[in-house]
Amino acid sequence: MVLDVKWALRWLTLCAQAMAENRVWLIELDRAIGDSDHGENMDRGFQAVLEKLAEAQPETPGAALKLTAMTLMSKVGGAAGPLYGTAFLRASTALGDAAEIDPGRLADALVAARDGIVARGKAESGDKTMVDAWTPPRRLRRPPRRTALAASLEFWSQPLRRLRPAPWPPSP
Ligand SMILES: [Mg+2]
Repeated sequence: MVLDVKWALRWLTLCAQAMAENRVWLIELDRAIGDSDHGENMDRGFQAVLEKLAEAQPETPGAALKLTAMTLMSKVGGAAGPLYGTAFLRASTALGDAAEIDPGRLADALVAARDGIVARGKAESGDKTMVDAWTPPRRLRRPPRRTALAASLEFWSQPLRRLRPAPWPPSP
């Protein structure tokens, strides 16, 4: 598998789909602890990301992530915009302007994203925030070379896997 801009665009498209599919679930979750706007905000933000990506046609994975960061920061309100924006921006910086990324660079980008969320949100592991979902991949940093690609793909899939809904409302 080549981790190039096509791969990055496909991954971001899957992110947007996951946000759209889980919009109502995220709204319900936010209703329990906040103001019920998280699903709406994230779905709107990622739809805007897709539009911007189609318009700008970035040429590297890093450029795609940077545009994602800028769009989320401007379109998503509350805490989520700055948090996800920072995560994507840090990941973009870690990727640089390489046309293709190797698994080590991808792992670095995920660690940078997670650390960006921690720095921006002032939360740490165990605070019951999204940092808890982002941290397990970080522990896999510097995996043995042989399994680097598999581990890196595991890193990317972790946050999305957390988004897959349990049945809602939960069965008694
Ligand atoms: Mg909210």
